[in-house]
Amino acid sequence: MADIILKPGLEKAIGLHPWIFSGAIREINGNPESGETVDVYADNGEFVGYAAFSPESQIRARMWNYDHGQVITEDYIRYILQVSISSRQNYVKRINSNAIRLVYGESDNFPGLIIDHYDDVLVLQVLSAGANYWKKTIIEIIGDLLHPRAIIERSDAEVVKKEGLLPGTAIHSGTLDKTIIIEENGIKYEVDLMQGHKTGFYLDQRENRLKIRSYINRNEVLDAYSYTGGFTLNALSSGASRVTSIDSSEYALNILKKNIEINNFEKNSHEIIQADVPVQLRKFRDAARQFDVIILDPPKFAPTRSSLPKAMKAYKDINLLAMKLLRPGGYLVTFSCSGAVSLETLREVIGYAQADSGKTVKIVEVLGQPEDHPILITFPESEYLKGYILRVE
Ligand code: SAH
Repeated sequence: MADIILKPGLEKAIGLHPWIFSGAIREINGNPESGETVDVYADNGEFVGYAAFSPESQIRARMWNYDHGQVITEDYIRYILQVSISSRQNYVKRINSNAIRLVYGESDNFPGLIIDHYDDVLVLQVLSAGANYWKKTIIEIIGDLLHPRAIIERSDAEVVKKEGLLPGTAIHSGTLDKTIIIEENGIKYEVDLMQGHKTGFYLDQRENRLKIRSYINRNEVLDAYSYTGGFTLNALSSGASRVTSIDSSEYALNILKKNIEINNFEKNSHEIIQADVPVQLRKFRDAARQFDVIILDPPKFAPTRSSLPKAMKAYKDINLLAMKLLRPGGYLVTFSCSGAVSLETLREVIGYAQADSGKTVKIVEVLGQPEDHPILITFPESEYLKGYILRVE
C-alpha cells in the first residue's frame, strides 16, 4: 500500500479535520491510483490513519479513520454505511416524511458520499475519488441493506471535476418512472430524481418549511426562490390568504403547478411569477405591493470564499428589498446555503440591510439544517444552511 507522510506538526490538524491538502504532504511513497487507500504517517513516523487518495484534487486525500485496526475493506464500507443509516433511527421517528438523507459525506465518516432515500428509491451522489473507487461495493451493500425499488446516481455536479471524475447520472438497479411522489408533513411533492436540483428535492429545508406554518395567519405570503413550492405549499396549507411564488426556472415552476394540483390547493389564491428575484422585488417596490410574510431561500450566492464580497452585496440587496415590502410587524424568513457565509456573517449583512431600510428588525428564530444533514463539530464545511425568522417593524 502506498503511503503519505505529512509535513512536521500537521498530524494534529489532520486528526481533527479529515482533509489533507496537497501543501500538507511532505512525501508520497508509491504510486496510488485515484481513490485508493493510503497509509498516512506523521513526519516523525507515527501512524495517523487511512485516507482515500485523490491525485488531481487540491484536497489530495480524505481521511477514512484514525485506527490502525480499521483497514478499508468491503466490510469496513458496510460497517460505516450501517452506522450512518442506523444513526437516523431516532430522527426518522420524529419526522413525518418518507424522504431522508441517509449518508452525508464527511459528517457520516464517508468522505464525498451522499445517499438520499426517497420513498423506496435511493439516490447517490459520488463526489470524491475515494467514494468513486468503492462505488460498486456501495451499490451492492445499500441494495442488500435497504432493498430499494431502484438505485440511481446523480453525480452531475461540477465539483466532481476537481476530483478528476466525470459528471454524470445513471440508473444502477431497478426501474424508475420519470417522477415520484414523496410526502412531507402531510404535503405531497412530485420529485424528478433524474433532473431535479441536487438529488431532486431540498430535503435540508424539511423542518424550516414546517416551522413557517405557525407564522402564516390568513396572511399574504411571498415565496421568493420557490423551486417546486416547498414553502409555498406549506403557506397554502396554513391558510394564507394569498401566496406569490417567484423562481427563474420554468422547469421548477411547472412542477410547482402540479404540486398545487396534487394537494388540492387550486382553489386557494395563488400567483406564480417566472422572474429574476431582485428584478421582481424592485417591480413590487415600484408598484407599492406589500406582504405579511416573505421567504427568501436563494441559491448559493457564495460557492467559494473568493466570491464572498459579491455574495454579501447580493444577500444585502434582496434582504433590504424584502424588508421594504413587508407590512409593519411582518415576518422575513431569510436563508443562506453558502458554506462560506457563517450565521454571524449573515446576521451582519442583514444588519446592513436593516440600517438602510429605516425599519427595526428583531430576531425571532435562528434556523439551520436538520439532523439528517449532521454538522460535524470539527468540520465547518458540513454546516452550510443558516437562516433567521425576523420580525420587521
Ligand atoms: N425553497 C425551495 C428551495 C429553493 S432553491 C424549497 O423549499 O424547495 C433555490 C431556487 O432559486 C431554485 O429553484 C432556482 O431555480 C432559483 N433561482 C436561482 N437564481 C434565481 C434568480 N436569480 N431568480 C429567481 N430564482 C432563482
